[in-house]
Amino acid sequence: MVRALHRLLLLSILPVLLISGASFARELILVEAGELPIILTAPHGGREEVPGCSLRTPTGSRFVTGADLNTDLLARDIAGEITRLTGKRPYLVIARFQRRYIDANRRADEAYAESGCAADYDFYHAAIRRFVDEVRAKYPAAMLFDIHGQAAYRDSILRGTHHGAAVTRLLARAGAPAVTGPDSVFGQFAKMGYRIIPANDTAPTDRVEAKNYTGGHTVLLYGSHNADGIDTMQLEFGRDLRGQIVIGQTAKDGGQAVVAFYRRYLEQSSATAAPAGVLSR
Ligand SMILES: [Zn+2]
Repeated sequence: MVRALHRLLLLSILPVLLISGASFARELILVEAGELPIILTAPHGGREEVPGCSLRTPTGSRFVTGADLNTDLLARDIAGEITRLTGKRPYLVIARFQRRYIDANRRADEAYAESGCAADYDFYHAAIRRFVDEVRAKYPAAMLFDIHGQAAYRDSILRGTHHGAAVTRLLARAGAPAVTGPDSVFGQFAKMGYRIIPANDTAPTDRVEAKNYTGGHTVLLYGSHNADGIDTMQLEFGRDLRGQIVIGQTAKDGGQAVVAFYRRYLEQSSATAAPAGVLSR
């Protein structure tokens, strides 16, 4: 039954790989180049075993092996909604390997148990780095959203930016409303009726992001507090928003929220800013 389900899910993802000419993929990572200054990543929704890689053993301060259920599908379908609304595709990097083999949102020394796992971990991050470099060269401003799931706040969506550090450049050029205002992603979620944490009446740098959900390795590694980074934000979708019946709506709303942010804070910036390749900081 579980096997059959896996096969079904594989079949549902496969056409994405075949249709897109710009796609390439190592078997265990879905990588799709985009046409927007938006990168979606999803490290924890993978369903596949990793041949030649043994299971992880407890390490680090927060050792978790369970999947963020359905976040692979959520990332893919948010991307689909963004494409439907804009006519252009975001960049996509989705881990298809199980988190109990590789945790792509940890530093390499905590991500896997042995060298047989390194190639898939490295491929995942090389794809993100390549895309970050590409959008930095092409656009004056860009954003990476790292898609996760959590069960601690089952009906809520959590924001993680390392208390504003990962969106340093966005805050400098557009101010707090880009993170908490009506056209921010979380402003949109709030308007749609979702519970959000932290609330939008706090400042992005108030250090009120929820403990354990302030943003992980990916947000930290590629965030705009780094000279070679872009603005990054972790989105943590509660378990109740990822069930089979509701996940379609969650993805649609997620796509709409990202596009509202894009229209207000990325597209405008592209239209008025310096030519591609010249980055303002
Ligand atoms: Zn996660």
